[in-house]
Amino acid sequence: MTNNVQPIFILPEGTQRTLGRDAQRNNIMAAKAVAETVRTTLGPKGMDKMLVSGLGDIVVTNDGVTILKEMDIEHPAAKMIVEIAKTQENEVGDGTTTAVVLAGELLKNAEKLLDSDIHPTVISHGYRLASDRAIEVLNKIAEPITAKDFKLLKEISTTAMTGKGSESAKDNLADLCVQAVSLVQDDATGKVSLDNIKIEKRAGASMQDSELIRGIVLDKERIHEGMPKTVKGAKIALIDRELEIKKTEIDAKIEITDPSQLQAFMDQEEKMLRDMVEKIAKSGANVVICQKGVDDLVQHFLAKKGIYAVRRVSSDDMKKIAKATGGKIVSNLDDLNLTDLGQAGIVEEKKVGDDSFTFIQECKNPKAVTILVRGGTEHVVDEIERAVKDALGDLASALKDGKVVAGAGSTEIELARHLRKFAESLSGREQLAVLAFAESLEIIPRTLAENAGLDPIDVLTELKAAHEKGQKWAGINVFTGKVMDAWAAGVIEPLKIKTQAVSSASEVSQLILRIDDVIASGSKAPSGGRGMPGGMPEY
Ligand code: ADP
Ligand code: MG
Repeated sequence: MTNNVQPIFILPEGTQRTLGRDAQRNNIMAAKAVAETVRTTLGPKGMDKMLVSGLGDIVVTNDGVTILKEMDIEHPAAKMIVEIAKTQENEVGDGTTTAVVLAGELLKNAEKLLDSDIHPTVISHGYRLASDRAIEVLNKIAEPITAKDFKLLKEISTTAMTGKGSESAKDNLADLCVQAVSLVQDDATGKVSLDNIKIEKRAGASMQDSELIRGIVLDKERIHEGMPKTVKGAKIALIDRELEIKKTEIDAKIEITDPSQLQAFMDQEEKMLRDMVEKIAKSGANVVICQKGVDDLVQHFLAKKGIYAVRRVSSDDMKKIAKATGGKIVSNLDDLNLTDLGQAGIVEEKKVGDDSFTFIQECKNPKAVTILVRGGTEHVVDEIERAVKDALGDLASALKDGKVVAGAGSTEIELARHLRKFAESLSGREQLAVLAFAESLEIIPRTLAENAGLDPIDVLTELKAAHEKGQKWAGINVFTGKVMDAWAAGVIEPLKIKTQAVSSASEVSQLILRIDDVIASGSKAPSGGRGMPGGMPEY
């Protein structure tokens, strides 16, 4: 026997390992830091952030997910929190800050329980019970909505834009979003696909000049000067093949021995191009939207026939134009006929700012539309676009589930009240976890109050008292600091914002709580490079 025990290395050199409570604390700290970053932007009185990239590009925003995406976060647990925001963005399109702030608070309160020696799995289990119950309660307290409830829809749209850069033109923009959603809604299924709402943006005018186009706006000008600038009663051919003679794939050499052969060859090419135009004209089309290239000669012939044409239109836009105009995308010109053509009241080239756009508008029953977003500068336009997207996401989500709740912290306080009651039915340690969950929900009204410069303790006390009296939609009036009926005040949000935020915040906090060992390999490089800089961050 010897006392000389050799250490055993099971991990490569350079690997960092954090164990037990240290691992938990580090992860919780990172998650809290992420939540803390976006917390000040929450609600109508939230502030904006200016993000400057390594290249000096600037983004000014109030939008949780945009902030987190731009921040280039490295810590693994912090990244998991960023994922919550991304999921929320994909599933609902709004409520990203809410979800992240809630996750941060769940972890913060879990940490307190860890300090009193409650085992992470117990907390995790309690959180799951609480989150399941919260979803049930949310579904119960939610109110119905249909596509005909224009007042409610407008309120959803307005709520989404409150406190964003769009504030000053909120009323107009909120209307545009409601109209857009109503137009593209499927008559049969009632479904709203946001793919059918195109957002086109240009700086250089006031936000008030933003408009809804009953059709599609393309960032393209007509391809030939000789074409008409305006076509009324447009019949639109949607063509997804090139209007030029294809280059052969293989290298072919044509040997010409006599000048007349060359002439014949060129004549033949010209005839083929002319035929293309003849076929298009024969179908009755007076507008051509082409997904691929258009030969100079074809442009010339089209112009001579008074046909308006644009080329290299993205396949996404092709689909949208088809939806808006009722046309069919055609590949073979021999098949093209009148019934394939889309219809629009007018197709015209118009200037927006300094650039020329093609407006395909006055479509009869457009199932795809465009919101043209205007604003003073690029940064303003970008932020309005994000606000418009939030509003559209909320509207689509509300119509999909047919359920909405009131905001301004009312829903969270009501949930917390139900969870506290539920906790009474549980025993011991799980009860503590459910109570911690309930308290965590109150971070939303508390933050709304703090961001509005109000005393959160006063506000919360008043709110809770109102809810005890049965006023389930009692929320904060951030402008007066008083309690208001958030439903009557028109602060309305889709149910899904809340269910998604509760479930993903709860899931991720459980996931993080259960980690007691972080093994970070020494390098990001796939092979070798051990111990190189740029490995996993230290924490
Ligand atoms: P998120 O990224 O979570 O959507 P927001 O900055 O959009 O963050 O803030 C949303 C919160 O602001 C919600 O809790 C919502 O109820 C609240 N809110 C929106 N409009 C009002 C209002 N007029 N009065 C009080 N609270 C409001
Ligand atoms: Mg929002």
